[in-house]
Amino acid sequence: MTPTESLTGIVCKQCQFKVAEVLEGCPSCGSESVETVELKQSGTIVSYTIVYIGFGHMAKRAPYVLAIVQTEENVKLTTVIEDVTDFANVKIGDKVRFKAMDEKIGPVFQYE
Ligand SMILES: [Zn+2]
Repeated sequence: MTPTESLTGIVCKQCQFKVAEVLEGCPSCGSESVETVELKQSGTIVSYTIVYIGFGHMAKRAPYVLAIVQTEENVKLTTVIEDVTDFANVKIGDKVRFKAMDEKIGPVFQYE
């Protein structure tokens, strides 16, 4: 894990929409006037599921927690929560933090 790794996204200069992906245009208003930004790295689980059978490159990772995390800046992203030892303890509202960028699946989070 590299602590200097950043969670990169874009912000739209027209409508201020933020998304945790680097895109050519704004997914909200369609503007191409977007800027790459570094996003805040702490968030809250708003929804999650435990995946017991992964497919493709995710097969080896299963079982794992797939969650929708809302960051402090209200950016929602679908992410894997790593290093969870007891799935019964995972709850909506749990605080998580960006861990690293996985080249295949994108941002990965962990418990604080
Ligand atoms: Zn926009």
